[in-house]
Amino acid sequence: MAVAKKIVNTLDEEPGGCSNSILSDEDWRLTEKNSFKSIEDLQQNMLLSAEDITALKPVVKKYHMRITPYYLSLIQNPFNSQDPIRKQCIPSLEELYDAEEDAIDPLGEERTSPVSCLVHRYPDRVLLVVTGRCFMYCRHCTRKRLWKNKNFEPTVKELELGFQYIKDNPRIREVVISGGDPLTLPTKKLDYILSNLARMGNVQAIRIGTRAPVVLPQRIDEALCKMLEKYSALWINVQFNHPREITPESTEACRKLQRCGIPLNNQSVLLKGVNDDPQVMIELCHKLQSIRVRPYYLYECDPVVGASHFRTSVRKGIEIIKKMRGHTSGMCVPTFVVDGIDGRGKVPLGPDYLVSLTDDEVILKNYNDEVFRYRNPREASEIPMP
Ligand SMILES: *Cc1c(COP(=O)(O)O)cnc(C)c1O
Ligand code: SF4
Repeated sequence: MAVAKKIVNTLDEEPGGCSNSILSDEDWRLTEKNSFKSIEDLQQNMLLSAEDITALKPVVKKYHMRITPYYLSLIQNPFNSQDPIRKQCIPSLEELYDAEEDAIDPLGEERTSPVSCLVHRYPDRVLLVVTGRCFMYCRHCTRKRLWKNKNFEPTVKELELGFQYIKDNPRIREVVISGGDPLTLPTKKLDYILSNLARMGNVQAIRIGTRAPVVLPQRIDEALCKMLEKYSALWINVQFNHPREITPESTEACRKLQRCGIPLNNQSVLLKGVNDDPQVMIELCHKLQSIRVRPYYLYECDPVVGASHFRTSVRKGIEIIKKMRGHTSGMCVPTFVVDGIDGRGKVPLGPDYLVSLTDDEVILKNYNDEVFRYRNPREASEIPMP
């Protein structure tokens, strides 16, 4: 606890720590620079035992580490390897083990990529990958392959090719800006990307996926909000995975985005030992509702290298949804999805409420497992005329 406090103090001493609500770009950059990037950084702050230090060096060699001081401060007990915040950010020896099914690109994104920065899997929307960088590298990340090249960032020429592809495909009506974390880009560069997309006749909606409000709430500064506010078709999807991530700071970051008129949705990843418990998930979703962030997806953790210790049985996800649907507000229930390997796409899963279906009747089961009959309406052509 004392250790965690020490980190919070470091954060407060910085110019523009999260206690200061008016921050310039410079301020969040400074906070970001102070991120913990090596095992030695953690060692200096007495966050790991001597054994951990030796053991974890090869892990960090294999997969990057980067943790913001703010996110580290959310760890309650740094020596408890079961802490749900610690699990998401501090490397673990288990990452060196790969299960048979694990892949570097489980979703086959490279193969459904028509130009280097785009993934085009569904008919009416594309994923635009604008950077490989993140403020924090989540240990469960599906796009670890982008970390390999620390500075992966499409050039302006590559981006222009992406824009051209979107313009040339009138069926594309939504662009999902992803990465890495798009908010690691300078505000001006993000503005350049958004303005290019917004002026295309076919693009009706733009979505940004970011973890900034969760891991570096300072990033949501005035300059960013002023820029984002210009785009009326903009949605932002965030990734809160545990109720302890909903703090005064992250709440304020969400509030600032909402004040710009941007609807916020949440995409959680189902993670063993973090949120694979109906009570934790219900608490998370209730808290999300209270800060007006709508739970959108709950993802089964993909079979990506270095993350098999996070994967739960698909049954667990269905069980969690079963305990939520009907038992609590529908506004709080996310859709549980499994992302099919090799680009097959997201498949929504949940408990079966449909027992049988014929032309005449439907046998249904409600959230309390009560089975009942429901009359199927007759087709208009079968109804006798008076
Ligand atoms: C998830 C994803 C999308 C968005 O899918 P939604 O179901 O609309 O959220 C689009 N493209 C790719 C490649 C994706 O992985
Ligand atoms: S913020 Fe997203 S892309 Fe970045 S490491 Fe976390 S899960 Fe991966």
